[in-house]
Amino acid sequence: MVATGRPPAEPGAGVVIPPTFTSTYVVGTDLRYARAGNPTWTAFEDVLGALEGGEALLYSSGMAAASAALTLVPHGATIVAPAGAYNGVDTVLREGETAGRWLVRWVDVSDADAVAAAIPGAALVWLESPTNPLLQVADLAAAAEVAQRECAVVVVDNTFATPLLQRPLELGADIVLHSATKYLSGHSDVILGALVTRDARLHAALLSARTLGGAIPGPMEAWLATRGIRTLAVRFDRACSNAAILAARLGDLAGVSRVRYPGFGAMISIELAGDAESADAVCAAPSLISNSTSLGGVETQWERRRAIPNEPVTTPETLVRISVGIEDVEDIWTDIVTALAAAGS
Ligand SMILES: *Cc1c(COP(=O)(O)O)cnc(C)c1O
Repeated sequence: MVATGRPPAEPGAGVVIPPTFTSTYVVGTDLRYARAGNPTWTAFEDVLGALEGGEALLYSSGMAAASAALTLVPHGATIVAPAGAYNGVDTVLREGETAGRWLVRWVDVSDADAVAAAIPGAALVWLESPTNPLLQVADLAAAAEVAQRECAVVVVDNTFATPLLQRPLELGADIVLHSATKYLSGHSDVILGALVTRDARLHAALLSARTLGGAIPGPMEAWLATRGIRTLAVRFDRACSNAAILAARLGDLAGVSRVRYPGFGAMISIELAGDAESADAVCAAPSLISNSTSLGGVETQWERRRAIPNEPVTTPETLVRISVGIEDVEDIWTDIVTALAAAGS
């Protein structure tokens, strides 16, 4: 994470790959046109590939990476997908189904038997674990075993766990997806996505989807993401330990009716007593916590998830998703307690 993706250690060389701003290259190497490759992307891909145990490809967003993965689905084929996946993916799958592009079998990903039963005959199994924002956990190894037998490609959205807590390729998945916007970059200043695979044929298809689909990252974003991923281990360590402390306390707070926390990671979803309006008031009250969408930055963020357009109805109206940051945990706690009290819960 720290040593990979650096220039060769030669006397006088920089220790960091600079952002390469160019649209084309002088003939003589494999690099010709910058829609097909940029050394700034390669630095990030080398780091993420080493962490996940495969070959990574960087895209302009997590959704661009998802769209590239979905190009693998033959027309009219069946996809197994989580009921309550990340809302962007959920919407793309629903719209594709309505348009006749594919069929979707929706499953509760925390029910391993239901997932296994849905796989025969499917071309692609889309898993997310933990899910956003219900934090359901899937048995990835069990699903991958069935999928392999049934010749279905398994995609795992590993955005919430990060490769520090879960390496899906080692569990039998074919493709790992990241919204690199989140923990990997970690500073709420870029939108990026990535796919990682060990399979040369899949890698070639996904590279082609990027080059010809055109959803390529900007050099500046790739450079910022590489700077961000260097500190992933220390940021995520702190965020996870803060989250464990908060999750243990939140259930005792008046106004909190349910705490969803899978026991690892730095995301917590709480359900508030009251209605959407009172939950909005709680979300707007803090001085430290940012009332904003997205996650995985150094700062604690929360939002009432159903306030987001297209959020699946599986998400309760008063669910507040908390992305726990790396601040002093007592400062975060005080802010949560004060916000609930101020909003009169
Ligand atoms: C944010 C997110 C995405 C989409 O990524 P973008 O970078 O916003 O395009 C996909 N999956 C999960 C789990 C996410 O949280």
